[in-house]
Amino acid sequence: MDEGYDSALEEKPLEFLTSIANSGGTCDGQAVIPDGERYRCWCSCGEWSVEADSQAEGLHLARVHTGSLPA
Ligand SMILES: [Zn+2]
Repeated sequence: MDEGYDSALEEKPLEFLTSIANSGGTCDGQAVIPDGERYRCWCSCGEWSVEADSQAEGLHLARVHTGSLPA
């Protein structure tokens, strides 16, 4: 019953991906999650995972990934 905060942090992005993964691999949702001094960015398509220096950069990269912004 030793639940460290490390495992809890690891579960959050996985739970998020599970909740939005039912769409069948399309880019329906992106997450920008603080990870230490950086931000980890995920997409519901499961094919996009990057790190960003700021939440704003992560959101920008997510929009570029989904095609709503030019690269
Ligand atoms: Zn995607």
